[in-house]
Amino acid sequence: MKYAELCQIYEELEKNPSRLKKVEILSEFMKKLKREDTEIIYLLKGKVFPDYSEKEIGISEKLVIKALAKSSGVSDKEIVNVWKKLGDLGKVAESIMEKKKQNTLFSNSLTIQKIFENFKKLPELEGKGTVEKKLSLIAELLTSASPTESKYIMRTLLEDLRIGVADGTLRDAIVKTFFKFEKETETDKENTKKITELVQESYDISTDWRLVFENAIKGTNYLEKTMLKPGKPLKVMLYLKEATIEDGFTRVGKPALIDYKYDGFRMVITKDEDCEINIFTRRLDNVTKQFPEVKEYVEKFVEGKTFMLDSEAVGYDIKTKKYKPFQEISQRIKRKYDIEKIQKELPVEVNVFDILYYDGESLIKKPFIERRKLLEKIIKKQPFKIRPSQAIITDNIDEAKKFYKKVLESGEEGIMMKNLQAPYKPGARVGYGVKIKPEDNEFDLVIIEAEYGTGKRAGWLTSYTVACKDYEKLLEIGKVSTGLKEKEEEGLSFMELTKKLKPLKISETGRSVKVKPELVVTVVYQNIQKSPTYSSGYALRFPRITRLREDRSSKDIATLEEIRKEVEKK
Ligand code: ATP
Repeated sequence: MKYAELCQIYEELEKNPSRLKKVEILSEFMKKLKREDTEIIYLLKGKVFPDYSEKEIGISEKLVIKALAKSSGVSDKEIVNVWKKLGDLGKVAESIMEKKKQNTLFSNSLTIQKIFENFKKLPELEGKGTVEKKLSLIAELLTSASPTESKYIMRTLLEDLRIGVADGTLRDAIVKTFFKFEKETETDKENTKKITELVQESYDISTDWRLVFENAIKGTNYLEKTMLKPGKPLKVMLYLKEATIEDGFTRVGKPALIDYKYDGFRMVITKDEDCEINIFTRRLDNVTKQFPEVKEYVEKFVEGKTFMLDSEAVGYDIKTKKYKPFQEISQRIKRKYDIEKIQKELPVEVNVFDILYYDGESLIKKPFIERRKLLEKIIKKQPFKIRPSQAIITDNIDEAKKFYKKVLESGEEGIMMKNLQAPYKPGARVGYGVKIKPEDNEFDLVIIEAEYGTGKRAGWLTSYTVACKDYEKLLEIGKVSTGLKEKEEEGLSFMELTKKLKPLKISETGRSVKVKPELVVTVVYQNIQKSPTYSSGYALRFPRITRLREDRSSKDIATLEEIRKEVEKK
């Protein structure tokens, strides 16, 4: 297929913000897709590899600019200038190529096959001359591309297609393409809902839209048969939130399993037929190399030929053996060097709370209590290494409350309450389990500094240092990077804050920008800790921004006195 045909679809999708319309456009395209072309499904989400794959195109903005310079003859500096005006390197490429190619005719020869061929080579390149080789691969594509094609090549390279197609839209398009119900009756609606769930589940298990698409061509029983595969990640099950233990029991039934809600990060650990251990994050990233000790614990202390475990890795203090908040160990996820050193400084304990696959068999349809018994049987409990999550099974409210109190006193976040009979539903936030955490509190604080994000969030200020006041002085009380939306239409987003903060810039060092203290936000948090890190002497735990308070100025923010009072209350 010609790349121009796909770009035409991209253009239509970009022009039509309505989700229904997008589903329609995608579905028309899918109907025409030949069986040998199903790999194109990845490109619809702007990807070249399946979601479960470790491979990423991983090209920096700098390199993309260089490639554009190389193929257009326009200098890097000029490109950056246009970029500043247009804010999107895709559009920059389009406009530069338009000018450059005004008088030339395109042969319209770029094929999707060629796009895949060159893009797939990018992550493979290593060693000497890599940059040059990457530049050539990209420049080769840009040279034979039309302005519109150049726009999407750039955006695909930067992994930001900007056509508003996410997983849900792809799913609905697949449903619309293959499972048509003629009349809009109640039964039709019910059937559509069932099929939609089935398609979603097939993706959550396989994390591969091409496979889902191919299964959908063959029919529902193929979708149903989508299997978990050790060595590949899955979309993990998520939980609901309840305010009290009583509500928790109402939701999950009695008796329930109650376990610690550890403040770490989710780890799916798999052992495949070749005895290879792999560790995945909730976002499907393979982090096995970053956690050699976890691999070793699993090899030593978990029995079984093949399995998939769901767990939370939590950091602890080597001396006091107390658990640490997630922020203190978060750097381990991305760290690629000095692994041994950091492993000693920031050790983690793996708390296994579910098992989804064992010795060639998927367990996700089995009741939770059976899965739990199995994991207790096969994991040799090794505190501060690997263990089944600390849990009780009870139908007694007082016993549950006692357990909750103990967990909070140990400094952990809260508890999980789980239905003993429930299956495991990949990817879904269902009430098979609930989390219970202390009520949130909030303060209005002012942003004094912000940091640019990386990857998909590059170009946006995504982490904010907030301050309270002590008379005339502003004192830092924490860094917040959660609570904000990824898209402007969804509510208070990074984009909106970035646009408001940029004009307030005082100075910039590296990725960090100091700003005039004018933007006030409401920050919700769970508790306050003493902390030498921030000038106020305190740090908010689990902070998230919930509102922009443009009606307020830095004069109206929380005072140190108020914060102290809040700490004393506890
Ligand atoms: P939160 O920010 O509260 O962790 P979330 O949106 O990341 O929420 P939820 O499914 O709502 O995820 O809450 C459960 C999360 O808590 C899991 O994703 C997991 O990372 C973590 N967790 C810690 N301990 C457990 C446990 N024992 N069982 C299940 N999840 C646990």
